[in-house]
Amino acid sequence: MSGNEVRQQAINEVTSRPPTHTTTGGPLSEIWACDVFSLVTMEECLSKHAFKEMKKTVQTGAPLDPATADVVAAAMKDWALSKGVKFFSHIFYPMTNITAEKHDGFIVTNSDGNAITEFTGSLLIKGEPDGSSFPNGSLRMTNAARGYTAWDPTSPAYVMHTANGATLMIPSVFFSWTGEALDKKIPLLRSNAAMDKAAQRVLRLMGETEIETLNSSCGAEQEYFLIDAHFANSRPDLLLAGRTLFGAPSPKGQEFDDHYFGAIPERVQVFMQDFEDKLFRLGIPAKTHHNEVAPGQFELAPYFEAANVAADHQQLMMTIMKSTAKAHGFVCLLHEKPFAGINGSGKHVNWSVGNSTQGNLLDPGSTPHDNLNFLLFCGAVIRGVHEYGPLLRAVIASAANDHRLGANEAPPAILSVYLGDQLEAVFNDIREGNVSISSDGGVMDLGLSQILPFTRDPGDRNRTSPFAFTGNRFEFRAVGSSQSVSGPLVAMNTMLADSLGWIADKLEAQLAGGASQLEAVATVLKELMELHGNVVFGGDGYSSEWHTAAVEERGLRNIPTTADALPAFLEPGVIDLFERTGVLSPVELESRYEVYAEQYIMSIAVEAKTTSELAKTVLYPAAMTYLASLTSTISTAAAIGVELETSGVKVIAGEANSLLTAVAELDGAMGADEFSSTEEHMKYCAATIRPLMDSVRSHADALEAEVGDEYWPLPKYREMLFIR
Ligand code: ADP
Ligand code: MG
Repeated sequence: MSGNEVRQQAINEVTSRPPTHTTTGGPLSEIWACDVFSLVTMEECLSKHAFKEMKKTVQTGAPLDPATADVVAAAMKDWALSKGVKFFSHIFYPMTNITAEKHDGFIVTNSDGNAITEFTGSLLIKGEPDGSSFPNGSLRMTNAARGYTAWDPTSPAYVMHTANGATLMIPSVFFSWTGEALDKKIPLLRSNAAMDKAAQRVLRLMGETEIETLNSSCGAEQEYFLIDAHFANSRPDLLLAGRTLFGAPSPKGQEFDDHYFGAIPERVQVFMQDFEDKLFRLGIPAKTHHNEVAPGQFELAPYFEAANVAADHQQLMMTIMKSTAKAHGFVCLLHEKPFAGINGSGKHVNWSVGNSTQGNLLDPGSTPHDNLNFLLFCGAVIRGVHEYGPLLRAVIASAANDHRLGANEAPPAILSVYLGDQLEAVFNDIREGNVSISSDGGVMDLGLSQILPFTRDPGDRNRTSPFAFTGNRFEFRAVGSSQSVSGPLVAMNTMLADSLGWIADKLEAQLAGGASQLEAVATVLKELMELHGNVVFGGDGYSSEWHTAAVEERGLRNIPTTADALPAFLEPGVIDLFERTGVLSPVELESRYEVYAEQYIMSIAVEAKTTSELAKTVLYPAAMTYLASLTSTISTAAAIGVELETSGVKVIAGEANSLLTAVAELDGAMGADEFSSTEEHMKYCAATIRPLMDSVRSHADALEAEVGDEYWPLPKYREMLFIR
């Protein structure tokens, strides 16, 4: 009996599958946001007063009064019922990267025993799921096991269609009985408010009189893999760990770069069309899609939106991506590194801040005055990344993302800022005091005229930087493909709030001392660059010279693993940052550390157990069956006087023995359970368990390269990546 039936069958299924066709749901103008309870919909079905109140809440985050909430709830219910909805759900975002929902029926029975539909403002505003089974770190003790959801009116409700019918989805926050944030949305809203407050202070000092609420924006570029479901379902490692724990390299990988921006395979095109159709219905502005570097890898970028809405849409996009892939016979892999030796997937988080009166503050703009505001905000980001680099590293830390960061395909695990040649030169001039200030000459004498005709630097193609300025926004490139964008957005908004506060203090002091606005800005930015300019780096982030120079000459930190990164949440400076800005209390922050650390430890435990089990029960037996066949052929041949080569047998036997030894070592190491702290436990996972898993894998992959193809049970890299 051969051992590759499952594999062979998968190949047959994939190669003989009939093409999928998609029925597009009509022109964009008809389907766009048709399932969203948007401002346009509300304007049609709310009274003038209720609509005005709602609009104010959506645009400024101002609280909504209960009477208006009742009116909105009634209108929302009627709208949803007209779309065939029978259930509603408060959808929320626990501290893990998942999305959670609890469904309730609109139906209640009245005193006559008749079914009626009821949905009041209070039902809309507050749901009450049982929070006890969501990870909540140290908050578990204090929250009396209950968590509450509350409607976030600033993110639109929508109808989700599934095979089980339609449900009204209500974006919500999730908090404990004692009022602590148990989710990723509350800190995001708070960080936005903190940034707004600090930004307003700076803008007022810059002489702005009319200043609308500032909001952060986010456009996230999502990378992902599509693998045929027949292959994925016969790989227990993909199913359980989200990545291949074994797999010899394919003779052809991504070296020809023939996939990047190449023609999209037809089957994938059909998937994308279907997927984007669903996104459009939900008002998610999918904009560009293309092949990525690795075979089987693709990217989708939506147009940017307000950060809170973008974060909700991002979560929804990942959910729909997976379910649509399934409907097309694919499995969508969002893991950061599904295949060793092949590029992993990231999520570039494009971020800017602005409002309707001053515009995008990270856009240099077209007047000298805009330039000054821009320089202050850009300087604030530079300071933020320098001051809170370890925090930025911590919010993107996960067992999966550790495989990307610092490997030569993704940003290094050292946080630096890339500005582009032109802007870097401007900031260097400021640092060196090379800007001439004359009190009567006006802004141009600052020497800043060079920014005015600012063109987007073609150098933004420096893909080796983890944090790059790209013309009118910053792009945080080290974020992992499966991660929620909320953590990175919270960190960026909060560090910006802190830096703008620092700048406002300094500006105030300068102005009080009699300096002109120009002098004040130049002095403050000079000091800022002297203190924090070391974080600006325009060279090759992948080079070994940078890894040495960053640490030894610039004093930046290289933080290779999650075990090293997460403790940043416990550093006094970070605790103080979040408390001072009102974004997270020390308890809320600590609970996040605990949840993320637990996730890291559990992920590695699942991987280690899967590695051990697959090695013992699937791969070793395959090698033995093949050996049995070889050795019996060799002895049969010897019996008739034919001498066969035995070196291959010895190589296989040697690797098989080493495989068992390595598995035994891994099993032994996994037995350890005495750790003095979570940090020590994480370090053990990073320094001991991971290398032992790698060692098991190296022997298994060596076997895959030696064992007869018809004996190998798991779909191979070349099959998963190239057959579709
Ligand atoms: P590239 O391919 O060069 O990375 P794209 O034009 O595809 O650039 O844009 C990448 C993402 O950046 C998109 O989601 C886009 O909407 C977003 N983006 C563009 N401008 C801004 C901005 N001012 N703030 C936030 N995101 C932005
Ligand atoms: Mg891109």
